[in-house]
Amino acid sequence: MKTRFPLMAAVLVFALALPSGICAQQAYAKSSIRKQKARASEAVAKRHKQTQVMIDKVFSFAELGFHEKESSAYLTQILEEAGFEVTYGISGIPTAWLARWSRGEGPVIALGSDVDCIPKASQYPGVAYHKPIVEGAPGHGEGHNSGLPLLVTAALSVQEIMESENIGGTLVLWPGIAEELLGSKAWFVRDGYFEDIDMCIFTHVSSNLSVSWGQARGTGLISVEYGFSGEAAHSAGAPWRGRSALDAAELMNIGWNYKREHLHPLKRSHSIFTDAGDQPNVVPSEAAIWFYLRDVTYEGIMEMYEDANHIAEGAALMTDTQMHSRVLGAAWPRHFNKVIAETMYENIKAVGLPQWSDADQQLARAVQKEVGSRDTSGLATELSELGLPVEQPVSGGSDDIGDVSWTVPTVTLRFPSNIPGLQGHHWSNAIAMATPIAHKGATAGAKVVAMTVLDFLMQPQLVAQAKDYFENVQKKETTYRPMISESDPPPVELNTTIMETYRPQLEPFYFDESRYDTYLEQLGVEYPTLKQE
Ligand SMILES: [Zn+2]
Repeated sequence: MKTRFPLMAAVLVFALALPSGICAQQAYAKSSIRKQKARASEAVAKRHKQTQVMIDKVFSFAELGFHEKESSAYLTQILEEAGFEVTYGISGIPTAWLARWSRGEGPVIALGSDVDCIPKASQYPGVAYHKPIVEGAPGHGEGHNSGLPLLVTAALSVQEIMESENIGGTLVLWPGIAEELLGSKAWFVRDGYFEDIDMCIFTHVSSNLSVSWGQARGTGLISVEYGFSGEAAHSAGAPWRGRSALDAAELMNIGWNYKREHLHPLKRSHSIFTDAGDQPNVVPSEAAIWFYLRDVTYEGIMEMYEDANHIAEGAALMTDTQMHSRVLGAAWPRHFNKVIAETMYENIKAVGLPQWSDADQQLARAVQKEVGSRDTSGLATELSELGLPVEQPVSGGSDDIGDVSWTVPTVTLRFPSNIPGLQGHHWSNAIAMATPIAHKGATAGAKVVAMTVLDFLMQPQLVAQAKDYFENVQKKETTYRPMISESDPPPVELNTTIMETYRPQLEPFYFDESRYDTYLEQLGVEYPTLKQE
């Protein structure tokens, strides 16, 4: 009877005596949150030089998926120096990592972005026409060199405030390895790396500062390579003794092209031959064809996969060869969190678009003209609206952030580091990516991320609301089922030959920030360099 009050008093005394690090449930006044967000924005602005160096550096490494060796070593070193604990080689991917820093109890917020580049997209930055740094080499023709530098800047800025203001919580940075192959995020999810994460802020380069919630535009996909094994023979001396694996791969391609007529317009598919034999006078004993099969729903993707399997079996039957297949990548259609997106959009409005210089606009318009874009208006000067769920599904690209978005409450912040109206996966998309356009766009994005992270760290009830949307609205009618199996390995051997060929040629062009202010300066590029008419 009499113990009740003293017990409560004891709890109170104990709570007051707690070490200052434990403060997760502390309630912050609106004015205090506003003040810390303003400080975060200033802290990001102060790091603009460091952001520029990181963006230029990763641009110069130009590493394809599963070979982001220099990029990962460089970025994780910065994080380690800032006190993050880094786990390397997650999911058995040598270039993958997780960097974690904690200031006691509070929300665990993951920050992720892609880091790989595009084959044959090598390009001088700041030059408004095709001029490869190394002919035929990979390059950042998707702009994935900017997202992680943005997040490192945002994380270091938030860390500074968490320390000085004693705000509890954990920051977890992670790279979208081999995003162009949809080759890592489904594996990170499968292997449990998001199990203790409360929410995820993902970022992707774009040409405006924006965020959306609900089902996103675009598709999910499964990436499958079909291999065939036959019997070699002298193509002229004894062709009747050969069984051509290439015939099988070609027949599969023909079969799928007949199927294409009967695909729903929202479905999309494309393929390349990855092994088409060695030389004409040897009947190919091995051949392979690699498909991306896309649709706006998981069920639609799996239907296509089943159809492709049947066509592959048919091709093997027709040619008396053996068929084997391997899943090389997967991406769920994306669904983004309403609470995080709405909170973030307020910060987008507060930050606004960067101030573009005349030089930035001249470069943008010249590139738009060079590639025959219908958009000739240069860089964005008006903010996008908050993106709402698509009413009618729209086909298009994919991103394996989809798998993360069905595992924890997630949004993608799109930030204005590139030129609007370009075709994508192309050298022209690399032109802006180591120029003031990319640098300013990333600083704007980093401000939004830092402010949004503070919103959630300082108001854990918002995290609870984001989880409520995730559990009770998003997952109400859809259950996430992985497209990869428990044993599918990540295809880490992809791109090896290309990188072995081009890395030695790219190394002399790595950005040396100890000798040059910017990569443009190192390359001797006058900004902007326009075509002489
Ligand atoms: Zn991308």
